[in-house]
Amino acid sequence: MEQSYLIKPMLDGSYPVIDYGKGVYLYDKNGKKYLDAASGAVTANIGHGEKEIIKAMEEQAQKVSFVYRSQFTSEAAEKLAEKIAKLLPGDLNWSFFVNSGSEATETAMKMAIQYWQEKGITTKHKILSRWVSYHGITLGALSMSGHPGRRARFVPLLEEFPVIHPPYCYRCPYHLEAPACQYLCARELETAINRIGADNVAAFIVEPVIGAAGGAISPPKDYLKTIKKICDDHDILLIADEVMTGAGRTGAMLASELWGVIPDIVALGKGLGAGYAPIAAAIATDKVIEPILAGSKVVMSGHTLSANPQSCAAALAVLEYLEKNQIMKTVEGKGEFLRKELEKLKSQFWFIGDVRGIGLLLGIEFVKDQTSRRPFPRNAQVTQRMVELAKEKGLIVYPAGAGIDGVNGDSIIISPPLTITEVEMNELIYLLKEAFSVFS
Ligand code: PLP
Repeated sequence: MEQSYLIKPMLDGSYPVIDYGKGVYLYDKNGKKYLDAASGAVTANIGHGEKEIIKAMEEQAQKVSFVYRSQFTSEAAEKLAEKIAKLLPGDLNWSFFVNSGSEATETAMKMAIQYWQEKGITTKHKILSRWVSYHGITLGALSMSGHPGRRARFVPLLEEFPVIHPPYCYRCPYHLEAPACQYLCARELETAINRIGADNVAAFIVEPVIGAAGGAISPPKDYLKTIKKICDDHDILLIADEVMTGAGRTGAMLASELWGVIPDIVALGKGLGAGYAPIAAAIATDKVIEPILAGSKVVMSGHTLSANPQSCAAALAVLEYLEKNQIMKTVEGKGEFLRKELEKLKSQFWFIGDVRGIGLLLGIEFVKDQTSRRPFPRNAQVTQRMVELAKEKGLIVYPAGAGIDGVNGDSIIISPPLTITEVEMNELIYLLKEAFSVFS
């Protein structure tokens, strides 16, 4: 291509042109093959080029591709909402469809504020969140995000939402271990609520497993339950941002389920459409919808392309595919296999500090020194180099790490399609070793 007018992540960067995808592989125009160990951005959960999804989208397109949500509903949107209500735990029954994870978390935030308004409580409008988090790029979602790098340019426009430390056990600010720590990082939420006043707080938002900002940081056993109890005790809604963790990525529809928690509102995205179409959802419990139903009856959000029939048909086909092939049941075993293989690399490569995560959402944190856990300097751009070295070897991994308390948290996420086979996992490890060998 001589001149490109497409705005890419790096305006002057060079990006291979992908010709087609099949299963866990992508093939570029020059014939180079990539093993997609990131599922793009933890999105292509059932792999590329799955015919059943394409067929469902084609059939929907033959009928109608677009109807406007304020004028009509569609069979595809109704069926998808019904399927989600069936698959999600508890009474998480009410789906508001949008087009991206950012829109989903922002809709969730607005639903929470509206819930209190409809109950006649207008002071509860603050959303609390954590550092080392990412909830999206639109301004409301970015306000909630504890991601200094992505916030920096827009700070004057953002609310100062993030308030507490995440359960980043590898770099615990208290230098303690769970459960002996008694979840002091979760307790920070109680302190923050008392400082700000529960009367002013609508909700707390949490990624059950920290994704882009942290590199698959999964919490210790009772962390999420502790958070939920603090929220309940103070009349604050819990929003689970399951944009990355949901739709089977950790072996359940919601990662929250793994820790026995049912949030009040959930955001789904990425794996919901598995990359076949842009679709995401804010899903509320009966409790959240009831006062709105009894009051204004309008959830105050929406986009022109919300509940787009074509996207809904794709997502419905993805969920049916997951169910029919019992894919979620295989995730725990595959995750354990991959994690063990990644753990083995620690002794081979001096710069692997931590291997973590759950299901097929795994992370590796890089350090300058394994014993002291000293990080690399920021200007070494270690995450970026690792991603590039892997790509050269034909392996796609996802960059992560937002930085906290002066530590960059250089890390990558390994999150292949849930359909990956053992042979392909062995190839993944082989390619990763090849890339790491160049770094060392
Ligand atoms: N929430 C989480 C946990 C995410 O990982 C992301 C994207 O990485 C988002 C929200 C934003 O989603 P999107 O990029 O689809 O707007």
